[in-house]
Amino acid sequence: MKPIYEPKGKAKEYGDYAINTYMGCPHQCYYCFAPNVLHREREAFHNCMEPRKDIVRELRRQLKRENITGKLIHLCFTCDPYPTGYDTTATREVIQALKEHGNHVQILTKGDGSRDFDLLDAEDWYGVSISCDLSIAHKAEPFAETPANRLLELEAAKCRGINTWVSFEPVLDPVAVLECIRNCAYFIDKVKIGKLNYWPSDIDWAKFGREAEALCKSLDMDYYIKDSLRKEMEEQKGGEADAG
Ligand code: SF4
Repeated sequence: MKPIYEPKGKAKEYGDYAINTYMGCPHQCYYCFAPNVLHREREAFHNCMEPRKDIVRELRRQLKRENITGKLIHLCFTCDPYPTGYDTTATREVIQALKEHGNHVQILTKGDGSRDFDLLDAEDWYGVSISCDLSIAHKAEPFAETPANRLLELEAAKCRGINTWVSFEPVLDPVAVLECIRNCAYFIDKVKIGKLNYWPSDIDWAKFGREAEALCKSLDMDYYIKDSLRKEMEEQKGGEADAG
């Protein structure tokens, strides 16, 4: 077992290295793509919160065997490192092992990772996912922390000198996302913005992408537009040039 792996395809836009600590995730976001990636039944995925078998022991072995050091490692891609309402000691032990070997972590959660802020420093990244505000989130992500609580934890991380980032993906409510970028820019170091894939949506992605990019530029914010959103923006631009 190799807990640290190199994500491929769309997943690579999250980071060059990743580790998935748990077997499932209780947050039950309707758009969750992890069961498809893992070839698991949705219900089974959302009801199994066990850490992967021997994850910490296997991680320590891999770190030593492959002498992995100086890497930025994303937690997590196919689960949430802080499943709300569950014991997250495994996440803490994973972070400890990675950092003991001179690596850094890039956390992404819809839970509350503040219990591990004491392990993080100015070379680590704490991030939260924001798709919408509470009016949609209570149905779309029913068992995750509220978006407001996630942002409070993010601000607390920033106050502790930890790098902060937000994954605005998948965007469910463009207005709420743009407002969040505008209002929270002072405690966010970097944003990644991506569209809703694999589900129907009537959002004008090209328009949203252009507005988001213009806003980030006006705020002098470090940003990354995910490939599938960038493609929508480019296609519309190409179509307008052809029409002209
Ligand atoms: S937090 Fe992530 S892994 Fe968990 S249900 Fe939502 S999308 Fe899936």
